[in-house]
Amino acid sequence: MITISRIKKDFGGPICRSCINNRYGVKLSRKHCRYEKHSDVCPSCGERKHIVKRLSLLGYLKGIGKKPVPPHETRERKREEDGNA
Ligand SMILES: [Zn+2]
Repeated sequence: MITISRIKKDFGGPICRSCINNRYGVKLSRKHCRYEKHSDVCPSCGERKHIVKRLSLLGYLKGIGKKPVPPHETRERKREEDGNA
């Protein structure tokens, strides 16, 4: 189940739609999401995007049973840093 509070817990804040789709393996379209008025930096991809503030009912239904995919790049980078230290 994807909820905004879950996303905040996983990523430290609300994220953009493409990151929700990538990380949770869903295909949310524009109509499944309610956006912040202004674009902001997404804590997941670091790009300036429109951040998803809420999900519509259909968006919630699509997110049932979905779990976040671990961010591989971040994990690998961290491993490298640990190795160098
Ligand atoms: Zn993003």
